Amino acid sequence: MPVSDSVDRESGSDSDAEDGDSPAGLPINELFYSLQGEGTLAGVPSVFVRTSGCNLRCWFCDSYHTSWEPTHAWLGLEEILAEIESHDADHVVLTGGEPLLHEESVGLLEALDERGYHTTVETNGTIYRDAPIDLASVSPKLESSTPTAERDPKGDGEWEARHERDRIDMDSLARLVETYEFQLKFVVTDDEDMPEILDLLADLRDVADGPVSDDDVLLMPEGATRERLEETRNRVAELAMEYGFRYTPRLHVDLWNDAPET
Ligand code: SF4
Repeated sequence: MPVSDSVDRESGSDSDAEDGDSPAGLPINELFYSLQGEGTLAGVPSVFVRTSGCNLRCWFCDSYHTSWEPTHAWLGLEEILAEIESHDADHVVLTGGEPLLHEESVGLLEALDERGYHTTVETNGTIYRDAPIDLASVSPKLESSTPTAERDPKGDGEWEARHERDRIDMDSLARLVETYEFQLKFVVTDDEDMPEILDLLADLRDVADGPVSDDDVLLMPEGATRERLEETRNRVAELAMEYGFRYTPRLHVDLWNDAPET
């Protein structure tokens, strides 16, 4: 079972975490020990540091309390490091929300690097920061992520235009794949996502100063519950074979469904 943390959470305001304007430390939504559930390191025991605040609003966001209704406790770097070190893990996953919103994420990554941790950063690819990152796990958001009026969890359509405007930043994507070991992880809902993935890859290969191979591309079924994954995963696995990309499971959903801190 995942080990729960002892962080004392408080509700945070939407705006401070959203714009990354942290006075000191980071807005932490969850800090816990579990197995990496997705991507090339699936199955590796890891400490997860989940920051609050995101510049996007995917309708299917599986960390709703970092984006649509962000909550967090502000923790200093020393507190975060002490909590990480209380677990017996060599891998740390910095996730969100969008962790690279926060300048202080760089300080945390530097401190983790000094201590010999392998670091994965889970990012939506819209922000580049110069930091010691061992694996940039980049998940560009497709048009199917946009919270239209019909699929906006809050039902007010406020984020549709902003999300659509901001979800792809080709310069940041290119810098991330040029600088770091990376994986490109696409959340796939159905066949209709594939033309957009192919177009995006073609654009990225045009501008990036380095190779982006099909092996770097992972298709991940949309779904934060076992029930939803039942509906999406077989078709996404078939698409991976059809297009020659990799398939990634969502191991944490298979194991623990949508329980928090997994
Ligand atoms: S980019 Fe990630 S954290 Fe942000 S809204 Fe989308 S799924 Fe949620």
